[in-house]
Amino acid sequence: MQTADRIFAYKIRAIDKRSIANSMFRIRPLPLSGELLSSWLIRTAYLHHSDPATFLNLYFPEYDYHLWDNDLDLYENDSFFNRLSIKTGFKKETIYGMTLKPYEGWLSETIYPNNRNAFIMPIFRRKRNIRQHAQRICPICLKEDKQPYLRKKWRLFFSTACVKHKCFLIDKCPSCGEPFVIHKRLYDGDFPHCRKCGFSFKTAEPEFINENSYGLEAIGKIYDILEKGMFEYENNYYYSFFFFYILNRFTNLIKGGYRKNLPIEKGILENDDLPVSNTPGIPFVMELNIKQQYILFSALMQVFKNKKSIIRFCADNRLTVKKLTKSLTYIPFWFSEIRDIMNKPAIHITSEKPETL
Ligand SMILES: [Zn+2]
Ligand SMILES: [Zn+2]
Repeated sequence: MQTADRIFAYKIRAIDKRSIANSMFRIRPLPLSGELLSSWLIRTAYLHHSDPATFLNLYFPEYDYHLWDNDLDLYENDSFFNRLSIKTGFKKETIYGMTLKPYEGWLSETIYPNNRNAFIMPIFRRKRNIRQHAQRICPICLKEDKQPYLRKKWRLFFSTACVKHKCFLIDKCPSCGEPFVIHKRLYDGDFPHCRKCGFSFKTAEPEFINENSYGLEAIGKIYDILEKGMFEYENNYYYSFFFFYILNRFTNLIKGGYRKNLPIEKGILENDDLPVSNTPGIPFVMELNIKQQYILFSALMQVFKNKKSIIRFCADNRLTVKKLTKSLTYIPFWFSEIRDIMNKPAIHITSEKPETL
């Protein structure tokens, strides 16, 4: 098999490049469940024994090696997707389905083709003063995969741990510390591996989390809301993007220092505390590492448990309605009820004895 593959790779080099540019991919693996387009393209390139950049350049020479400069999972380019559909024989919807665009209307009203999405990790460009984020993976998921591949969910900021395997996700090489760059490789085969030292990510030692940790339950709840596209709150149902809209607002309130009585899980962070932010204008999740994000979403989902817990958190932090709703372009209906309760002067939540969350 190995010999046959190598002969095949040799032959590809011998073919006139123009005929490749106009042909279909020779090998077209089926997309796997929840797979990212970038992952599928990289796997396909590997099956052709080709570097992902070289591979795409063979079939799309008009982009002159620049396709990977884009975040292909958020890429908006109709002609590229039309041609990819022809080259794969897959429907355009199948290909779009692998991008992050289908989260539109679920995760937020609009998914932007750049780095402006509240919960989608930018993994390609690096700005000064911002923590560099990279594609995350669960080493055990990869180990169990027949064909290791990258999941769409692993591009989301609240994906900090694998709910199935109860371990933290990783985004850099455990051997040399290099952030994971998905499309760059050191040698043929064994996807995914570290481009610098060749470490195979599926062999990484997982860091397990206590199964009673609320953070795991919190991720499960957020996934559930995202998958259903709806969320249940006080026996009513609302569109999921209204939930994420307010969740995002609260991440930034915590950045702003409103974190009194925030239920922070113990034993995961140093000093059991989230860092104080000092970069104005940068969303809080961008500044945090994986474990800090884990704690943040764990705490927020406890605050979001019910109406009473949100109101109590706001009261503890002296969050007035004005502060709470500042910079919100609209108030989702489920949240307007909370705002209205807070507006009533008769409520003295602060005087109540705090309940255990
Ligand atoms: Zn896993
Ligand atoms: Zn490495």
